[in-house]
Amino acid sequence: MSDLPTFVTHLECGWTGERVAADRLHNLSPQGHPLLVRYDLAGAAKALTKDGLKSRAPELWRYRELLPVRRAANIVNLGEVMTPLIPLAKLAGGAEVLVKDEGRLPTASFKARGLALAVSMAKELGVTKMAMPTNGNAGAALAAYASRAGIETVVFCPDDTPQVNMAEIAAQGARLYKVNGLINDCGKLVGAGKEAAGWFDVSTLKEPYRIEGKKTMGLELAEQLDWQLPDAIFYPTGGGTGLIGMWKAFAELEAMGWIGKKRPKMIAVQASGCAPIVRAFKQGTRRAALWENAHTVAAGIRVPAAIGDFLILDAVRESGGFAIAVDDGAILAARDEVGRAEGLLLCPEGAATWAAYKLALGDGRIAKSDRCVLFNCADGRKYPLPDAGTALDRHGPINYAAL
Ligand SMILES: *Cc1c(COP(=O)(O)O)cnc(C)c1O
Repeated sequence: MSDLPTFVTHLECGWTGERVAADRLHNLSPQGHPLLVRYDLAGAAKALTKDGLKSRAPELWRYRELLPVRRAANIVNLGEVMTPLIPLAKLAGGAEVLVKDEGRLPTASFKARGLALAVSMAKELGVTKMAMPTNGNAGAALAAYASRAGIETVVFCPDDTPQVNMAEIAAQGARLYKVNGLINDCGKLVGAGKEAAGWFDVSTLKEPYRIEGKKTMGLELAEQLDWQLPDAIFYPTGGGTGLIGMWKAFAELEAMGWIGKKRPKMIAVQASGCAPIVRAFKQGTRRAALWENAHTVAAGIRVPAAIGDFLILDAVRESGGFAIAVDDGAILAARDEVGRAEGLLLCPEGAATWAAYKLALGDGRIAKSDRCVLFNCADGRKYPLPDAGTALDRHGPINYAAL
């Protein structure tokens, strides 16, 4: 039944470790927590070598031995390219600060990684209808991949989601509902309706495969840096899929003997208007309470409650990292600064990581000698930008030297 070299053995509750069977549809574990996919990593290490990777296409599926899809025909592909590491050569002032620019992926955000896997697995397991709550980018990626796979999709977003996101979700074939609430309110609608409507719930971490897709950021980063992980990773954290996924990737690479014990400091970056993980980190708790009245321009990280909070906080603490909040003013200023100086238009969430880097450098939590990777998770052009340009009357006199 399998024509791809896959090594999935079972799935495991992220909280209790209890096992559930692979090759079946799952949402949360029986205990109500996110499920993690487990592999025969010794087997994977025999089937795949670092050298073997070199001849493969520069795309996400090059790591197929560490991914769950069993049949090639179920891979839903829109060209999941490897994303570049762009140094902030001017702004970093001699320090090594690399932006992993995820805006180059299909649907112009890293949600493509997660949804490519979630939809491929849904296809493999016979799903015909999917639903999700979204702040925009996840819905756009779900719409694109599900339409391509011939799966019907219903998406619920807050009614103040960036306009481009709402338009692209609909333009890629999903039915879109704009809800007078936040993403967790949208999530409740999916939960309440899934029985009656027959939807498979693909909410963040409520199915096991989006993590596997986001895990490829960690695999790719390790490979691009020649298997030397950076000193710190600044990750704009909403539901935390990517941070959890990269942490998992590093553990798998170590188990395969491809990297050593060294880990980057995992730094969860949030907006000060919605910082449940930062608050829990400071309070020393393993779970994060709901953040009331969440607001920030960085829509992708406006997540008041994360079901994988303990997985995020565990990874941050084990790595010796920290959680840090930056305000909207600092986020927008960071976006302007990087755009003007480096020619790289970050999304607000990505800009938050540059603002956080400067803060952490200032208070000594990061050293100038640290090699740091910042995640820019989406193309900056997906977000509202200020009006620009000066009107010019082509019929009047023009002082060219002053333009
Ligand atoms: C979803 C999203 C995030 C947060 O990602 P998680 O892995 O869910 O924490 C950050 N930035 C952008 C642009 C996003 O779309």
